[in-house]
Amino acid sequence: MFKKHLKRAFTKERSEAPSEHRKGWIGVDLDGTLAHYDGWYGPAHIGEPIPAMMKRVQGWIEEGREVRIFTARASVPEYVPFVTQWLEKQGLPALKVTNVKDFAMISLWDDRCVQVETNSGKPKLP
Ligand SMILES: [Mg+2]
Repeated sequence: MFKKHLKRAFTKERSEAPSEHRKGWIGVDLDGTLAHYDGWYGPAHIGEPIPAMMKRVQGWIEEGREVRIFTARASVPEYVPFVTQWLEKQGLPALKVTNVKDFAMISLWDDRCVQVETNSGKPKLP
């Protein structure tokens, strides 16, 4: 019964909204993606912002989209305030900081990702 309900909910969501307008959040990695990274200097050190990615994130926020900072730093709860302070310093709102993927994640921007073609196992490389 529960499964049936879930299936209906997902099917409805898929049919009503193109993926780019679907409700959900965009994951943005921190080190090497939103912030310059050249090695680990401890939890308090976060590199300078990367302008092109900052601009993209600010645009999404202005459009009303939800952005979450998707970082392994969030696996240590004590490290999260450093990330939040860094965001504030850059003039960004208090975005959620997480290392957890869920069904509402639309896309993930990460310097370590290798994108694969859906259902093929083939890497999508330029
Ligand atoms: Mg990274």
